[in-house]
Amino acid sequence: SIPLAFFAGIGGASGKGILIKGGNYMDVLAKLSTVVFDKTGTLTRGTFEVEAVHPETVSEQELLHLAAHAERFSTHPIAVALRTAYPHEADRCTVEDIRETAGQGITARINGRTVSVGNARMMQSLGITLHPCTRCAGYAGTTVHVAIDGEYAGHIVISDQLKEDAAETIERLKRLGVDRTVMLTGDKEDVAALTAAQTKVSEYHAGLLPADKVSHIERILAAKKDGETVAFVGDGINDAPVLARADVGIAMGALGSDAAIEAADVVLMDDKPSKIALAIRLSRRTIFIAR
Ligand code: ADP
Ligand code: MG
Repeated sequence: SIPLAFFAGIGGASGKGILIKGGNYMDVLAKLSTVVFDKTGTLTRGTFEVEAVHPETVSEQELLHLAAHAERFSTHPIAVALRTAYPHEADRCTVEDIRETAGQGITARINGRTVSVGNARMMQSLGITLHPCTRCAGYAGTTVHVAIDGEYAGHIVISDQLKEDAAETIERLKRLGVDRTVMLTGDKEDVAALTAAQTKVSEYHAGLLPADKVSHIERILAAKKDGETVAFVGDGINDAPVLARADVGIAMGALGSDAAIEAADVVLMDDKPSKIALAIRLSRRTIFIAR
């Protein structure tokens, strides 16, 4: 039988914006030794702002315009940022053959031209040579490269901000005995290094494709000791398979995708990562009462 204390525990947590989809997850939460975080949308806000535009072959406006159009239907936080910087409703354009590659970027045909928008890895896989950026010093941001008809056309530097409780989350987890905190990201090394330094996660891995994130969580799961558990916290954009693989998958409720909320075992309704520390405390207390 399920102890009554578990119902009370789940009820108490939901009152604090933490949706726990079963008493067994309170057990898992109470025993966490490792918490693995996605970066974008989980430790950071996921609301990027355009910092700089460096066109090479077209005007600044046209570079932004083409990038925003290519991202017209994407739900990725980068897509939302580009559409905000250049509201595409203003002009008429034919956008066809959209192909999005998770962890890399997007390609579409815009008014007959093939436009690719994505990271260095994507440009590499398309055989497009990047131009070294001499004007980027001082911008610690995610770089969005743009190519038109197979030729490098320039890039846009966008930046995200840490969530206000990101560093506090890591500190509180350490105090609860969760010493291993890992950040996994598809973003580039320098951006990841900065976020890792600001949050003080115990380790991070950058430049990952969605499949690399899965192999990282599998390695972490294989390394845990008896009686220890591992959580993954993400927004579900490019990381839903990792959410499913962890002992407990925790999703962001407000920013997260519907698929993530469905796949997750725990949902943080207000997107605050620090709620994980609270969830652990509530779970430990509940299990103590149940015994
Ligand atoms: P994270 O691991 O930080 O959550 P993602 O796995 O979602 O990031 O994406 C990794 C990287 O792939 C991004 O930093 C970006 O460079 C690139 N990328 C992914 N989707 C898009 C897109 N729709 N447009 C442009 N770039 C993208
Ligand atoms: Mg992500």
